[in-house]
Amino acid sequence: MFNEDTICAISTPTGMGGIGIVRVSGPDAVGLAAGIFVPAVSRVGDKLHSHQIIYGNVVNPVNGEVVDEALLTFMRAPRTYTREDVIEINCHGGPAAVRKVLELVMAGGARLAEPGEFTKRAFLNGRIDLTQAEAVMDVIASKTEFSLSAAVAQLKGGLKEKVEALREGVAGLLALTEVSIDFPEEEVDYVPLDELRRKGEGLRSDIGRLLSTFDEGRVLREGLRVAIVGRPNVGKSSLLNLLARAERAIVTEVPGTTRDTVEEIINIGGVPVKVIDTAGIRESHDIVEKEGIRRSEEALRSSDLALLVLDGSRPLHQEDIAIIEKANKYKYIPVINKSDLPSAIEGEVLKALFMEEAVHVSARNGDGLDGLTLRIRESALGGGREHAPEVTINLRHRESLRKAEAALVRFDEGCGAGLSAEFLALELRDALNAVGDIVGATTPEDILNRIFNEFCIGK
Ligand code: GDP
Repeated sequence: MFNEDTICAISTPTGMGGIGIVRVSGPDAVGLAAGIFVPAVSRVGDKLHSHQIIYGNVVNPVNGEVVDEALLTFMRAPRTYTREDVIEINCHGGPAAVRKVLELVMAGGARLAEPGEFTKRAFLNGRIDLTQAEAVMDVIASKTEFSLSAAVAQLKGGLKEKVEALREGVAGLLALTEVSIDFPEEEVDYVPLDELRRKGEGLRSDIGRLLSTFDEGRVLREGLRVAIVGRPNVGKSSLLNLLARAERAIVTEVPGTTRDTVEEIINIGGVPVKVIDTAGIRESHDIVEKEGIRRSEEALRSSDLALLVLDGSRPLHQEDIAIIEKANKYKYIPVINKSDLPSAIEGEVLKALFMEEAVHVSARNGDGLDGLTLRIRESALGGGREHAPEVTINLRHRESLRKAEAALVRFDEGCGAGLSAEFLALELRDALNAVGDIVGATTPEDILNRIFNEFCIGK
């Protein structure tokens, strides 16, 4: 078991709150707590039981001063988050109170934890694999219900199971291939080349299925990049306001968890959506038409999906048509706004522009918003899904899967070229390592550090 020293951190956000939690993990956690925590009711002979919460005071052992009233959670290894002894002190959530408690814990010998170090210990001690460790951060960073349930599914081991099955498959194929190295003469153990190739192909299609979940995963983790384009005055900002307002309760201004930027994520039907800054286009009343079209195209290029807005109360303008033409190279939903006003765009015209699938909305009174929300969700998650996907991969997983896929392709080519089993086995070992990296079985230290460094302090 990985069990070096005792670490501590404030696990709750800084600032004022009802409760602040100082978490401590490691061999000295319990002794340390005993030094600074005095139970309110202490009965002689009472034994402290694991997984209990005790009410009392945090006391400075140097001068006996009561620092705060608190609850102490006491958990003995191994049934804990890190699989080490863990204590958590729930004190009042004021910056001074939490900091003072942390200082006492540090004075008692605990070291301030690195970001993600508790979770890293959970991983190193074998409680969770690397995909589950990553899911912890995904859960914390989730901004919508779909993102959350996908992250929780991964935390429960959804991806781990798939990857472990893949790993077993590659290991099995490697064993079969090695048989031909070890016993080249023995007919009994000989596995026909065709069968090896078929198995390799099967593994490649398993990899392909996992790879195909990347786009959905990216949307759920980072948000769907949506551009709202159209000529001035069609109602782009009104539509954005409507989309944002519909979910006002959960509209969040969140500091990016892995980056330093502040980005606005709006929740559209459970899908996190990052609206691409179209401020330039909104201001385009003043700029020449050409510039407006250029900016629309820029927004289209950097989006996953565009909402191409037309003003339904006015006949189509040359500029509308120019923007539609640009948009045709990208993925977009045509939106005909101002449905509260009499329509001035003929159905025939829309048909001619392949726009009969357009969604009719009124940014003024909200008509058609549900239909638009559904279309955005369909576009993000495919098939108008009602539930979050069980398994989605992230960028790191994709890199490893692609490596494994490439190694399996080389294996197949090697089989075709009649390479000796030794060489074929080398390719399979590469594939096995690449798959192992996903779950953390073979992941190099620097990659582990990179992953955990992106975590919050105290997790
Ligand atoms: P943008 O330049 O495309 O961002 O357009 P705005 O959102 O600023 O809207 C331009 C004008 O159209 C404003 O006066 C809005 O109040 C009006 N407007 C926007 N949406 C609607 C709508 O659905 N119905 C009506 N009647 N007016 C709208």
